[in-house]
Amino acid sequence: MSIAGKHTVITGGGSGVGAEIARVFAAEGAKVTILGRSYAPLKDVADETGALPLTADVTHRGSLDAALDQAREAQGAVAIAVANAGAAPSAPFRKVTPEAFRASLAVNLEGVFHLWQACHEEMAEAGWGRLVAVASTAGLKGYPYVAPYCAAKHGVVGLTRALAQELGRSGLTVNAICPGFIDTPLLARSIEAITAMTGKTDAEARAQLVAGNPQKRFVGTGEVAGAALWLCSDAAASVSGHALSLSGGEV
Ligand code: NAP
Repeated sequence: MSIAGKHTVITGGGSGVGAEIARVFAAEGAKVTILGRSYAPLKDVADETGALPLTADVTHRGSLDAALDQAREAQGAVAIAVANAGAAPSAPFRKVTPEAFRASLAVNLEGVFHLWQACHEEMAEAGWGRLVAVASTAGLKGYPYVAPYCAAKHGVVGLTRALAQELGRSGLTVNAICPGFIDTPLLARSIEAITAMTGKTDAEARAQLVAGNPQKRFVGTGEVAGAALWLCSDAAASVSGHALSLSGGEV
């Protein structure tokens, strides 16, 4: 069974990694729905790919449920749920407010919980489904100045492992993709924060981030989309509960 015709919901599908996953899955014939808070970037990706663009905030279950209902009405039951929306503001630990900590968990961890919980039953009814999260190497190791993000992404890996155990008999697989640094708008914001905090130039900040990757380069969005495609294929039917590092050997 390929992903052709499968209704695939991708959160954060209006930019960066999510937009590339939308392109790759649409090219493979999936019926793609992309979600995010801002409509304009979603519309651009939709115009390019034929995906259905819907606004939703993954931190609010009601907002997400309303969008999913619209998506099901237009494209049928969800077969593949890619929890990709995320944000990685950086700050020294002593400056992290409780509100900022909770906000990071809300988008990076609870957002995954909301999407997967909202979609897994219809997958089980169909006897086939794929739950995929775009986590991070920050789910597998620590980095300085992004403690809430690391905590949330480690949580995503834990959620993945738990659900693989619990849902294995339902025909679902549950996996997390853990890329290293990728050149997207999220990375651009991190680099801005580093330059503001340290006085380093943009090039120096980029070099600092690349230094941790044994291949001395950023990961490509296409590499993440390719991994997602493979995890959703029948070739990966036995791969579940996995945290797939895409980091050139960093972790
Ligand atoms: P990005 O271009 O900033 O994309 C993030 C997307 O998430 C945006 O489309 C954003 O759209 C959406 N989003 C954020 N908060 C949301 C919310 N509350 N509800 C719904 N959508 C929301 O960054 P990216 O690099 O592609 O990030 C995608 C994923 O890859 C994230 O989970 C990130 O943690 C992960 N990742 C990134 C890197 C990296 O170096 N870039 C490395 C490893 C993992 P709106 O703002 O319109 O809502």
